[in-house]
Amino acid sequence: MQEPKKRQIAILGSTGSIGTQALDVIAAHSDLFEARVLTANNRVEELIEQARRFVPAAVVIANDAHYERVSDALDDLPIQVYAGPEALCEVVQGGEIDMVLTAMVGFAGLAPTIAAIKARKAIALANKETMVVAGELVNNLCNEYRVPILPVDSEHSAIFQSLMGENSPIEKIILTASGGPFRTFTLGQLAEVTPEQALRHPNWDMGAKITIDSATMMNKGFEVIEAKWLFGVAPEKIQVVVHPQSVVHSAVQFEDGAVKAQLGVPDMRVPIQLAFSFPHRLGSDFERLDWWQMPALTFEAPDPERFRCLALAYESLHQGGNMPCIVNAANEIVNRAFLEGRCRFLQMAEVIEQTMQQTSFIKEPTYEDYVATDAEARRIAAEALKRV
Ligand code: NDP
Ligand code: MG
Repeated sequence: MQEPKKRQIAILGSTGSIGTQALDVIAAHSDLFEARVLTANNRVEELIEQARRFVPAAVVIANDAHYERVSDALDDLPIQVYAGPEALCEVVQGGEIDMVLTAMVGFAGLAPTIAAIKARKAIALANKETMVVAGELVNNLCNEYRVPILPVDSEHSAIFQSLMGENSPIEKIILTASGGPFRTFTLGQLAEVTPEQALRHPNWDMGAKITIDSATMMNKGFEVIEAKWLFGVAPEKIQVVVHPQSVVHSAVQFEDGAVKAQLGVPDMRVPIQLAFSFPHRLGSDFERLDWWQMPALTFEAPDPERFRCLALAYESLHQGGNMPCIVNAANEIVNRAFLEGRCRFLQMAEVIEQTMQQTSFIKEPTYEDYVATDAEARRIAAEALKRV
């Protein structure tokens, strides 16, 4: 009997936190999934090791300075090796690919995601910055090319799961937030926090950029924007609720008052696996919720005064146009600056706010406008950073 075709998955950012967990899922279900493409930026040795283990049809090293090392190391295997950011856009179009997992960081994920949609590949979306920057454009393309987006972000997967089997309107989305490592800090304490402290997230082990975004709560602001575009709900209907235990991954309230939530041990492999296997669920040996050992579940309101980035993200959503793109670009600059010790914690929001005021506003941006806005906002944020 002929074996059923395995789902062919391209992973953009396979060496990162999401990428490596996605490979765990693929390895655990090697009868169903195959890693068709693997890509990285700088972690060359990890990429080589992954390629030797999974033998994809192609790998891309986005930083082309590493091309020779990767190419030499995979010389004896039937793997095409490419380099440079444009190669990311080309490999995702490969005829055999069924699904593209976007697990790169930042604005750099936008172009390959668009290329994948135009090649009619299903998208497993981890790279939330894509939806923050250009949610409307991405949605329009998905409609035009009839491409589904399966959310990987744990909150959005929880909302997606709460909506499975429903076709009634959403009254409200309850987007839960851990509150990050500084949830209880005063403004005075926040002024002094270090990158090392910010990198110690209480519940999730993630890449550095999103971990800092979680500490400032910009991550939650981005998730509000992501939810608006993924589920077509107005921002007023998305309520952020701080829930420090990260057991309730998010919820949907319907017009009769019923609330459906998805719960579980914090483990990104659950939403990654569901995005790969949808519309089915697969078995797993992941840790189960222990109802007797579980801490008491608590819920509190977010504080936009102490976590200004959350307020700025909402503000950008109200202004619309290219404003979320501006916020994202400025945030990428300050996030890195904070990590490298060039900016204090509370200065991040200051620089973002100044960049919002100074970058050219465009009401109905095209793709080219987003690229130009990203570059302009990065320049302005870098200048503002020198002044704070
Ligand atoms: P990591 O930093 O751990 O990994 C990022 C991956 O993308 C790496 O493979 C990296 O390559 C690659 N990469 C980074 N920048 C570029 C670039 N400019 N061009 C090409 N490749 C690049 O990030 P995470 O896995 O934590 O996050 C990935 C995305 O998923 C982000 O958008 C994040 O917001 C989202 N997400 C992550 C969650 C998590 O639990 N980690 C949860 C929800 C969403 P290299 O290793 O070589 O640097
Ligand atoms: Mg999340």
